[in-house]
Amino acid sequence: MIKIAVTGAAGRMGGRIITAVKETEGVELTGAVERAGHPLIGQDAGSVAGCGPLGVPILDSLDGALADADVLIDFTFPEVTLHNAEVCARLGKKLVTGSTGFTSEQREQMKRHAAAVPVVMAPNMSVGVNACFKLLKEAARILGDGFDVEIVELHHNKKKDSPSGTAVRMGQIVAEELGRDYDKVANFHREGMCGERTHEEIGMQTVRGGDIVGEHTVYFIGMGERIEITHRAMSRDMFARGAARAAAWTGDKGAGLYDMQDVLGLK
Ligand code: NAD
Repeated sequence: MIKIAVTGAAGRMGGRIITAVKETEGVELTGAVERAGHPLIGQDAGSVAGCGPLGVPILDSLDGALADADVLIDFTFPEVTLHNAEVCARLGKKLVTGSTGFTSEQREQMKRHAAAVPVVMAPNMSVGVNACFKLLKEAARILGDGFDVEIVELHHNKKKDSPSGTAVRMGQIVAEELGRDYDKVANFHREGMCGERTHEEIGMQTVRGGDIVGEHTVYFIGMGERIEITHRAMSRDMFARGAARAAAWTGDKGAGLYDMQDVLGLK
């Protein structure tokens, strides 16, 4: 049985992850953490998540919550995740993180922590999105430079980072396949007399509103035809199930930085 602690236990994803851990064979919840001062500290993590009491209180101490755990599942924010990765590396605990919005420098820091313990880091833990990543690579390979690429993503009005980590990863996959540098060709802003679209650029647009869980469309736009590859998330549960699956997968893995393509055997 793999023992799991969850950070951000009272968050939108935290609750779904605690429920998914309860429903996934081979894993069990042994710790839950929230930020210091959170009103739900001391409450039962299962009751807060809505899946019934689990006998695991929400703590404000990561060290305490990790005492009995093999793996930490962390869906918070890059600054918090970096701190948590440092603690996991120090204590020899595995880490699965779905946090998004990392800068290149923060990503490098995560790589350094992954030299000590296995770390699964993925901006999107759903099987469908990871299948889309493969389809995008194939589409870019087939279509080559003949089609303009634009990416549009939609999320709920509480999302803090833009564009989404998934949209960025989609842009990077297409750019890599087309031999372009994503950081140079991604175009996040068009306004006023900004001139014609360049051939190389990859447009990145975001929509924010209501309770949209997450939608991503990559457009390959040619002369007289257009391909659209779309993923629509209808609930957060498949991200949570993916995270629980990733935690179970780390069981026999050595130190290193992994992603969901590794977990799902898509590489
Ligand atoms: P949220 O704001 O609902 O939850 C985050 C929780 O983290 C909050 O409850 C907050 O109190 C808690 N927190 C903050 N600092 C903390 C600390 N130091 N220790 C412990 N807990 C702390 O946000 P959310 O919608 O659950 O999203 C969380 C992250 O997951 C975001 O980065 C989001 O983009 C990402 N996300 C990833 C996937 C994926 O599949 N990879 C899917 C959905 C969301």
